[in-house]
This record gives sequence, structure tokens and C-alpha cells, in this order.
Amino acid sequence: MNTAFLRAAALSALVLSTAARADEPQTTAWRILADLTTEIGPRLPGSPREAAARDWAVARLSALGLANVRSEAFPIQGWVRGEETARLTAPYPQALHITALGNSAPTPAGGISGELVYFPSFQALQAAPDGALKGKIAFIDHAMRANQDGSGYGPYGQARRQGPSVAAAKGAVAVVIRSIGTDHVRNPHTGVTNFAKGAAAIPAGAVSNPDADLIARVARSGKPMQLALTLTGKPQANLPSGNVIAEVPGRDPSLPAILLGCHLDSWDLGTGAIDDASGCAIITDAALRLRAQGQPLRTVRLLWAGSEELGGFGGQAYAAAHADQPHALAMESDFGADRVWRVRFRLAEANRPLADRVAAALAPLGIVRGNTVANGGTDVEPMIERQKLAVIDLDQDGTRYFDLHHTPDDTLDKVDPVQLEQNVQAWTAVLGIVANEPGPLGGL
Ligand SMILES: [Zn+2]
Repeated sequence: MNTAFLRAAALSALVLSTAARADEPQTTAWRILADLTTEIGPRLPGSPREAAARDWAVARLSALGLANVRSEAFPIQGWVRGEETARLTAPYPQALHITALGNSAPTPAGGISGELVYFPSFQALQAAPDGALKGKIAFIDHAMRANQDGSGYGPYGQARRQGPSVAAAKGAVAVVIRSIGTDHVRNPHTGVTNFAKGAAAIPAGAVSNPDADLIARVARSGKPMQLALTLTGKPQANLPSGNVIAEVPGRDPSLPAILLGCHLDSWDLGTGAIDDASGCAIITDAALRLRAQGQPLRTVRLLWAGSEELGGFGGQAYAAAHADQPHALAMESDFGADRVWRVRFRLAEANRPLADRVAAALAPLGIVRGNTVANGGTDVEPMIERQKLAVIDLDQDGTRYFDLHHTPDDTLDKVDPVQLEQNVQAWTAVLGIVANEPGPLGGL
């Protein structure tokens, strides 16, 4: 039954991608997404390709007739990828599919070898005694499963975000984790890790889920494991990055603006189609459809942020650079291109009738109202915090998002044009209400 189900899923994916190629939509959203992933491709923060993407974005947003299009530069503490190989050398010799995590320290060019110590979870690693990993390589497993709201990413993602720092503090010379992903293909998932202040940075990588399954199986046998690891990617200070900004000017410039966020940078393994060319495509097409309905009351500002993937640097730079400009409400699209299924709000009690109108406008698109509080997203959060903004989240179906996220398979063919269009329609419906709201808009 499992096999039959997988075959059916594979077949429907094939039909979908073939259909998309044969009959490409001509919406602005699809054109941005297809052209950015084709003409630029991978856009690692601080890289020459991210710089090329900024130039591309300024040209495209200008050609689309948006106003005040500009690039705003900022430097980042970057990271460059190197060679990456891993091999289990004992008890059974096996090559593993690995990728380095962003901020990983480099191994020597010839690599390192050591005993591989298995931890079933991040919590099990935390519980290990100090010094227990001296001279060893830690392996961190986890049990993340696919779900609609993507809520596994927060808790299970700790293995990637904090695991290497915790292992380093206990004496580990390197860390390997099970990829933070829900697929069963042999692609490792990259992503950023962070070393706590004072913790030594060590080499850190993620193996594909099938390779992690292999390691877990060998660990259960109780036989000591040895790993040979080469990861030469390394941090690089002072790389150039930047945000790209564009606007649909409002009729009343004295009213605080609506801020829409996405990120232009991407990890380097795929072409950054679902993460996050889709988000930039969605918010931009929606802003243009809003404009086509007549000039909105409030200015709508698009933030195509840079360097989100290495630590949300673009959102922080935006909030610092525009702190003196009043904003009213923020929204972000950074969870792929599958259909919006839920809307959530962070709105002052006085704005409850506005939330009711938004929810009613979205119901015909199959979108339900959630009762937890909206949080925006990495690129708009710094401004939300600073100015206590109103927030609306259009939550996308995340069931297959973490199959593809940060892998070589984050490519254009994974985007379903029908679901992409539903996203644009949902965003347009919300903008039609909030960008024409004359009264005060407030957060919590
Ligand atoms: Zn993203």
C-alpha cells in the first residue's frame, strides 16, 4: 500500500510538472519565479550571484512600473561553501551524502576522522555530560514528520540551529545531523547553524534522511562507528549584501504604509524556487493587481530582503534603516507556493471588524480563520517588533515544503501554477482591504 501510494504521488507530480512546461502561465508571479530561477538561479547570501539577483530585481521591478525601486546595501558576516564528503569507515565502510551547514567551520583540507557518537535527539545531546564528546564527532538524530502547518520545524530544527554549538561545548570536534527534512530521497538539506558566543565553531554537516537511517541502524547494533569527514566551507567576513525595495504609492502619503516581505537570497544547492522566489513573486503580483484596481489609499512597500538564510540580516538592516518611517501593517510570504489554507491576525481589538472583513473575503478561496496570533516572518519581524505593527499571516500548506526546503530539489518544477495563482488571489484580496483602510491599524 505504501509503495502504491508513493507511485501514485510520483505520477501526479510528473503530470503536474509536464503540464507546467507545456502550458506556462503568463502571470506576473509565474514570470518572476521562472525568470529569477532560470536567469539567476542559486543566490547565496553575500555571493556574486546574490548581487546579480539584486540587479535583476531592480531591473524587473522597474520594468513592471513600480515606484521608488532601489537597492540598499549592507555588509554581512558570510559563509562560502567548500568541498564536502563523509564516509563511515567502521564498522561498515559506506559513503554518505552530506552537505555543510552555513557557519560551519572548515576541517583541514585532508579531513578529520573520529568516533561517531549517536544521539537520538537534540535533548539527548543536551543531557550528555560535559567533556563526554572530547575528540569525537556527534551525530544528532530527530523525528520530524511532515504536517500542514510546518510546526515540526521549530522544535526539531533545534538539532541544526543549536546542536553544533551544544556539541562543541561538550568537546566534539565535528557534528553531523539528520537533515531537517521530511523526504526519503538521498538529498541532504543545508541551512544555517549558530555557535553561541564563546563556543568554538566546529565543522557541521547534514546527511540525507536515508543516510541518517543507515547511521541509526548501525548505532542500534552497538558496534562503535568511525567517520571520515571533509567539510571545507568556511565563514567569510564583510561580504556585500543588500535589500531591494519597491512601492505602489498610496493616495495619502501621510498614512503609515503596508509592508510586504519576501527574501531574494537562497541556499545554493537548488535554485531557490520555493524558498523564496515564490514569495517575492506572490507579493509583487498581488501589489500590481491592487494597483490595477485603482491607486490604493496607503502606500504598499515591497521588501525583497537579502541574506535571510544566514540570519535574517536583510530584515534587521531594513528595520534599522527605516526606523523613522511609520508603518501600519506587515505581511510576509516565505513558505513555498502551495495553497493558502488559513489566515491569522495580530490586530488591535479596535481592528476586529477589519479582520472579519478580511476573513470573509478569503473564505471563497477555501481559506479558514485561525485563532492563534500571526507572527509575520523573519524579514518583517524586526520592524513589527520596533513599531508594534499589525500583522496578517496567510498560512500556506506546508505538507511537502520540508521535502524540498534547502535541497538541490528546490527548483521551478516543484511549483504548481494553480496553487501559486491561489496565493496571488488571496494576497490581492487582503491588500484590497488593508491598503484602503482609512482608520488606524494597530498590532498587539
Ligand atoms: Zn525562506
